[in-house]
Amino acid sequence: KDFRNNVKPNWCPGCGDFSVQAAIQRAAANVGLTPENLAVVSGIGCSGRISGYINSYGFHGIHGRALPIAQGVKMANRDLTVIASGGDGDGFAIGMGHTIHAIRRNINVTYIVMDNQIYGLTKGQTSPRSSAGFKTKSTPQGSVEPALSVMEMALTAGATFVAQSFSSDLKELTALIEEGIKHDGFSLINVFSPCVTYNKVNTYDWFKENLTKLSDVEGYDPHNRMSAMQTLMENNGLVTGLIYQNKERKSYQELIQGYSEESLVHANLTLGKEKFDQLLEEFM
Ligand code: SF4
Repeated sequence: KDFRNNVKPNWCPGCGDFSVQAAIQRAAANVGLTPENLAVVSGIGCSGRISGYINSYGFHGIHGRALPIAQGVKMANRDLTVIASGGDGDGFAIGMGHTIHAIRRNINVTYIVMDNQIYGLTKGQTSPRSSAGFKTKSTPQGSVEPALSVMEMALTAGATFVAQSFSSDLKELTALIEEGIKHDGFSLINVFSPCVTYNKVNTYDWFKENLTKLSDVEGYDPHNRMSAMQTLMENNGLVTGLIYQNKERKSYQELIQGYSEESLVHANLTLGKEKFDQLLEEFM
């Protein structure tokens, strides 16, 4: 099925987000989805525009709030595959509370973060993923704060699917998104997606020189959380591939009584006057 629509992205030429859009479209087709059973929910930022560029249900939410909306969509309609997306500022600064709780909730949503280590839409300020010493308009002397270790954070918060990729590696990214969609629980996929306009440090070449593919790490086992944490720490978080997956833990939906019986969107919620009056009396 074709997940392309006729909206032309207004990202800068060369922005990493183009590849993320292509990877989502390919992954959705590869797992057999159709546009009417996919919902893409996004936050605010350059990357937040992605929900308008994919032929599916889409919701462009507010800053840092993609995940509450995405979780609501999934709870109301279990038949939809739900992808939430946004940037590192959106998900790891203002939206971090939602990110951590969605992770520990293990709700069946795939969260794709386009991590460019800067705020691009507002013309280049230091983000929670910028490294110490990073100079921008907001930190002209260089940031004194270290970058947030988001993959380690996800493991600590109890994530059951943690992956990282590079927007240049379309094949790996597409495969990881497919696995994330198929995963029964919350999947976090952090994608290094260079901002060619404002981030002159973390460029395509910089990532090519600094990233390690987990498939090249001898004996790496993505089902061992301790070794996942150790590998991340040894490589300063700069790894790509499936970092960790736990297929044993039940998803939020499996644990919620009645969820599997009838989708809220199909339920007959008409109360009728008698039932309404009765409810009112109970609350009085
Ligand atoms: Fe992409 Fe940066 Fe341009 Fe935004 S400002 S569209 S992140 S290259």
